[in-house]
Amino acid sequence: MVKKSNYCVIDTETTGLDSEPLAEVIEVAFQILSCNDLSVIAKFESLIKPKNIDLNGPIPKWALGAFRVNNISIEELKLAPSAEEVCEKIIGILKAAKKPIVVAQNSAFDMEMLNRLFDACGYKFNKYIWRPVIDLYAISHLLWVYDAGMPNLKLGTIAEKMDIKVENSHRAMDDVIVTANIFKKFMLFFKDKGNEISDVKIVGNVKPSVSEYLCPKCNGGLRARMAKNGKYAGQSFFGCSNFPHCKFLCSPVQVIQYKGK
Ligand SMILES: [Zn+2]
Repeated sequence: MVKKSNYCVIDTETTGLDSEPLAEVIEVAFQILSCNDLSVIAKFESLIKPKNIDLNGPIPKWALGAFRVNNISIEELKLAPSAEEVCEKIIGILKAAKKPIVVAQNSAFDMEMLNRLFDACGYKFNKYIWRPVIDLYAISHLLWVYDAGMPNLKLGTIAEKMDIKVENSHRAMDDVIVTANIFKKFMLFFKDKGNEISDVKIVGNVKPSVSEYLCPKCNGGLRARMAKNGKYAGQSFFGCSNFPHCKFLCSPVQVIQYKGK
């Protein structure tokens, strides 16, 4: 039986990429969406005082790039609550939300940074959420991997494709609102095509790969392809790797039900 969970649409602003070991979360924002109707039942946003940057000294070289894009000032961070205080507040909300499913764009990054934030304070983020997480990048990849009209799968590009308004401020709550709106549209989209909300969960937080989906006719791998002619020209579909012996094909939305073990 599939657990009925609330959703936690989350975004972080950080002092660097996850490849930088000193990088940490300096802003977190999230909305808890109800599992029943996807309405917002709680929200939270806060700056976080960094542990790895001396706020009275110059910004270290490794963090300069991040500060250029995130619109967060050192003066604001001096007034921010400690990581411990923020973690405790987040835990309270996640507990009340009964282990929600995390929804994020590029969830691997946010999960790594949230794990760091919680670990640094002696907590475990994973204890308070339901796994696996839902990654909008993975879903977008599935839908538009060969879509010539999609230059990339960034949040703004996906939002534009789905007619969703974007406030271009690079602060965490603005991105959460866009992410939540994309998520809600994805849910309706999948439901329209006969997939339940719970089916989307199996997309998980990895880019769909060739071996992940199996042909229901011959058990061969299903591969993402692009239609070259006909009325679907330019659109992605999945076809059996045993073509021409097996001519099975399906849409990116349908392929989700053919995920292998
Ligand atoms: Zn086949």
